[in-house]
Amino acid sequence: MPRPNINHINPSRSISNAANSNPSSRLSLISRHLVDQQPLNTPYTTERLPNTIDTSLLPKTTSRKMSSQPEHPTLLIPGPIEFDDAVLHSMSHYSESHVGPAFVATFGETLSMLRKLFQTTDPASQPFVISGSGTLGWDLVAANLVEAGDDVLVLSTGYFSDGFADCLGVYGAKVTEIKAPVGQRPQLPEIERALSEKKYKVLTVTHVDTSTGVLSELKKLSELVHRVSPDTLVIVDGVCSVACEEIAFDEWKLDGVVTASQKAIGCPAGLSISMFSGRAIQTLKNRKTPPSSYFGSLKNWLPIMQNYEAKKPSYFATPSPQLVHALHTALTQILTRPVSERFAKHREASDRIKKAVADLGLKQLAANPDDQAHGMTAIYLPENVKGTELLPKLGSRGVVFAGGIHKEVAAKYIRFGHMGVSVLEPERGHVEKALKALEDGLAECGYQKA
Ligand SMILES: *Cc1c(COP(=O)(O)O)cnc(C)c1O
Repeated sequence: MPRPNINHINPSRSISNAANSNPSSRLSLISRHLVDQQPLNTPYTTERLPNTIDTSLLPKTTSRKMSSQPEHPTLLIPGPIEFDDAVLHSMSHYSESHVGPAFVATFGETLSMLRKLFQTTDPASQPFVISGSGTLGWDLVAANLVEAGDDVLVLSTGYFSDGFADCLGVYGAKVTEIKAPVGQRPQLPEIERALSEKKYKVLTVTHVDTSTGVLSELKKLSELVHRVSPDTLVIVDGVCSVACEEIAFDEWKLDGVVTASQKAIGCPAGLSISMFSGRAIQTLKNRKTPPSSYFGSLKNWLPIMQNYEAKKPSYFATPSPQLVHALHTALTQILTRPVSERFAKHREASDRIKKAVADLGLKQLAANPDDQAHGMTAIYLPENVKGTELLPKLGSRGVVFAGGIHKEVAAKYIRFGHMGVSVLEPERGHVEKALKALEDGLAECGYQKA
């Protein structure tokens, strides 16, 4: 099939190098969007700094040399995250038919790459990429794997786990929640007790609850579920963990992981990305009632995804070619290196950040190091400092953190997202800039370490 811009490949890019070293790769790396070397459109680069930034406070190291994007506050919230230029460039792909061979090939490769990211080689595993945000993943689970009246056990580590529970309830699931105190996670013995008291069709767990920065331990949890209640599907909300925390889909016998494009994957928001096991797909096929959503029906999407991966045109609802191109680029970059290396780098950066936070005399919501996420840190503010006072001070230093969202403690903490290029490319200086801004911003608020 014609892919007219093949001659634009620039072998100096690491992506292309990786492709050259692995010619048998299923992934064709000839896509135009990987090789566009032009700087971003001039209208962007002439854009002025937002006037809320006090440029005299900006550190000398800026992200300029790593990026041709206009100077902007460094976005260090738990998603969306800073983008790589090539990912952003992919969005300016010319318009093409969503059933044309070039786009079908790009979509198909994207699905195949997701198998690698999720570490599944089981042909029964099924990836889905559907327009929508991370929340759509909850609806997919609720509308397709649960029928009205089914029992679901939700492990709650914060706001997002509770949202998943609400969503399941909307579709008629009978939800039982095990809620951990803020900053903790439900413990295996209480989960075992719940599983032996009642038969649950589905168990959901939030790998990283972005409201608390609490990391759940999936491997041991899945072992427990398979031992105590082997028919229960293990479903993971991985919106804030896929591509920054280890997830071994096959090895850990997971049945579903739902995620989104804009967090650790580092792609603009707008894609719901999920992986379901053969068992989950069988559960879908065995339903007595139809899926309780139309756009969100995986029965409607399953043949489409299978066709795309087989490079056959197929239509149920129009995908976003531009976002799929961006995701293709992001995944190609991610898979240039072993995923284990990516996880290790997030872990190292996280350790450094958490140590710096402790050195400032600050505590995290997740007190136990084993429960701490590696792509973000939820930090309690000192007694006399308000988030509404500190966050603008960080902003004037060119750093954007997020406020608290867990309703029990929302005003008492802030969130620092450290995923993707901000930690994988230390040359950008993002982490140092953020830690310095935090220290100086706190001092300006009158905080002195005890
Ligand atoms: C961000 C997030 C969501 C929601 O994703 P949206 O893209 O905002 O819809 C769900 N779960 C977790 C764990 C998240 O971090």
